[in-house]
Amino acid sequence: MGTSKRQLGDVNINDQVLIARTDRPGTDHMQYVWVLVCARRLGTGALCSHRYGANGSDFHHRKCPACQGGAAGLSVEGLI
Ligand SMILES: [Zn+2]
Repeated sequence: MGTSKRQLGDVNINDQVLIARTDRPGTDHMQYVWVLVCARRLGTGALCSHRYGANGSDFHHRKCPACQGGAAGLSVEGLI
C-alpha cells in the first residue's frame, strides 16, 4: 500500500493524524504538503494538538516537532 492511499483521519505509528492534503509543493521530489496534527497525550493528560506540514512521503513515520523531537514542520500558513 503506497502513501497515495492515505485518507484524511489516518493515524501513523507516532499518533500523528492526517487532516489535510494540499496542492502546495513540499520539499521532496514530487511531494506535496500534508497537514498533520499531533494526537499524542502529554503528561498533563491534554492533547498536544500541534499542527504542522510534512511531505506526503514522510507521513508514515513523521514525529511531532513539538513533543516527539521530530524535524521542524513545513509551513502551513494559509493552508489551515
Ligand atoms: Zn505533539
